[in-house]
Amino acid sequence: MISVEEALSLILSQIREMGSERVDITSSLGRVIAEDIYAKRNNPPWDNSAMDGYAVMNEDIMSANRENPAILKVIEDLPAGYTAKNSVNKGEAIRIMTGAPIPMGADTVVMVEDTEKDGENVKILRETPLGENIRRTGEDIKTGELVVPEGSLIRPAEVGIMATCGRAFVSVYQRPRVAVVSTGDELVDVDEEITEGKIVTSNSYTLSAMAADCGADPFQLGIARDTREALKEKLRQALHADVIITSGGVSVGDFDFVKDVLKELGSEMKFWKVAMKPGKPLAFGTIGGKPAFGLPGNPVSCMVCFEQFVRPSILKMMGHSRIYRPVIKATLKEDIKKKTGRKHFMRSFVRFEDGQYTVTTSGDQGSGILKSMVAANALLIFPEELSLLKAGDKVKVQLIDRSFEYSEAPGY
Ligand code: AMP
Ligand code: MG
Repeated sequence: MISVEEALSLILSQIREMGSERVDITSSLGRVIAEDIYAKRNNPPWDNSAMDGYAVMNEDIMSANRENPAILKVIEDLPAGYTAKNSVNKGEAIRIMTGAPIPMGADTVVMVEDTEKDGENVKILRETPLGENIRRTGEDIKTGELVVPEGSLIRPAEVGIMATCGRAFVSVYQRPRVAVVSTGDELVDVDEEITEGKIVTSNSYTLSAMAADCGADPFQLGIARDTREALKEKLRQALHADVIITSGGVSVGDFDFVKDVLKELGSEMKFWKVAMKPGKPLAFGTIGGKPAFGLPGNPVSCMVCFEQFVRPSILKMMGHSRIYRPVIKATLKEDIKKKTGRKHFMRSFVRFEDGQYTVTTSGDQGSGILKSMVAANALLIFPEELSLLKAGDKVKVQLIDRSFEYSEAPGY
């Protein structure tokens, strides 16, 4: 048996990044940027007003107050989007709107709440420090600054900053096409009749969904029957993909042909017993240069193996600089036992309560029990060398979904 860590590092050492393509920034959300974005100009491009108010010379308003206001002549009205025709001289003010460029001569903006209009004049009712209410050239972004490094996930803020920098198109990593092949004589598709001895190929759907959840582009090649010929035929079709995933047929049963066929078609195919539970048998290698993963057939083993090995591989192909799920420490709320020797990934639920993360298992841990996966938002990592974890122990949990992005209450 090899460890999860060894299997993962051997797999990742074989994974190469995809090529890039140029996309419109409006469709770049969720993609990974394949270039460094440097600012070609300052933002703001010029000093501008942070307030609606009056652009003035500070020396004119130095000791102004309500009893002793400074009285200035208003020489111009300046909306955002225009530059002043006049400069501000001693005794003068320009009425200015938020975002308008600071006129020549002015060095301070007095906010409108600290003023009172008086015919052609304005009364300044409060001393305002030199330079106040002015947003400086380049205070957000300086010309030449790296604003989005290669490998970043493009979120709404990245889209916005690229727009600020005048980038309408951006180079992103291509999304790998992922072929999903399920194997088994017992399988029928979801819309087919279930006769004696048959089950629905749920793995085809979970695997496609997991690939899509990584940002990849999955397609299902359907069910390969448990014969060498059927499997070979499906895998030949899978060569159109960038990644090949099979489910089932990798253990030691009489009809487990996946290993034989992968070996025949693949170069340097490896078959491992990985010291993990669920999910011991795993095949990995390349077919026609494409990474191919032979995952176990049990629905949860298949998902856990995808999580540990396929997801980081796909994220690496997509150029992500951060390819792992976050692992946090949480306080265990129950005692749990296992045999030593394998790392267990236990379906569990993490919540934040009373200032700390706590974790409970989310139901029956059998490798065919998908319901406890539905109830889970995390995988509790029960180390290979341990056989007992006790309530109150701090344990590592891998956060495997987006439930932390959603809450019932605003929380502040
Ligand atoms: P195998 O790895 O082929 O020995 O399959 C192990 C178990 O997983 C068996 O009980 C299969 O019926 C089940 N299984 C295999 N493939 C799928 C699939 N595509 N969807 C749901 N269950 C499956
Ligand atoms: Mg099978």
